Amino acid sequence: MAKPLVALLTGAGISTDSGIPDYRGPNGLWREDPEAEKLVTYEYYMGDREIRSRSWRMRVKTHALKAEPNGAHRAVAELERSGVPVRVITQNVDGLHQLAGTPARKVLELHGSARSFVCTGCAARGAMQDALARVEAGEADPPCRECGGILKPATVMFGERLDPMVLGEALAISKACQVFIAVGSSLQVQPAAGLAGVAADHGARLVIVNAEPTPYDEQAEEVVREPIGTALPKLLRQLGGAHP
Ligand code: ZN
Repeated sequence: MAKPLVALLTGAGISTDSGIPDYRGPNGLWREDPEAEKLVTYEYYMGDREIRSRSWRMRVKTHALKAEPNGAHRAVAELERSGVPVRVITQNVDGLHQLAGTPARKVLELHGSARSFVCTGCAARGAMQDALARVEAGEADPPCRECGGILKPATVMFGERLDPMVLGEALAISKACQVFIAVGSSLQVQPAAGLAGVAADHGARLVIVNAEPTPYDEQAEEVVREPIGTALPKLLRQLGGAHP
């Protein structure tokens, strides 16, 4: 018998144990400080060289690239290695699922990746580390080496749309999976949140692992309020063991 497809939707809560703050959440940095929010808002970023300089300086200062995966990321990778078909849909841009060992082709990054930069002119991409090295070497707003265009992190900024291809794939997975586990997401940011409802409507067993209540708790078969670092490994071991 085919093993059931397990989809995981992961939000900021899975990475807080890795020391990455929840920038976008209700109490996140971007919400508290409108000036900080400008640094990640497409219109301001593209229109103002000073905003870009500050945005690059902020990226040099934050240590998101140095963060390490935690036990929850590793538990997802272990489930995948055990032979259970797993797809990860993540709202995070930290790349920690891939670092933990989940193959990149099985991770859909709804909001892009902070580990890469992209040129807004010619779409050339590169490693964020390389752009940050240029900033540290004195380039306040490093231009694209291919076309001279404005570089930005390969993340979806406020005011930008999600990649329709990525979103389409996320929808397809949500419809096809037998188990949908939402982890560390408040399920309040659309369209990501709606995927939980889509999965439940298509007959998947919906499990929610989150400290706070979410709008989808009533549709869930199981709601887990325990800390993600202990709850998720336990839950995934049960899943892996239930279908040897
Ligand atoms: Zn370019």
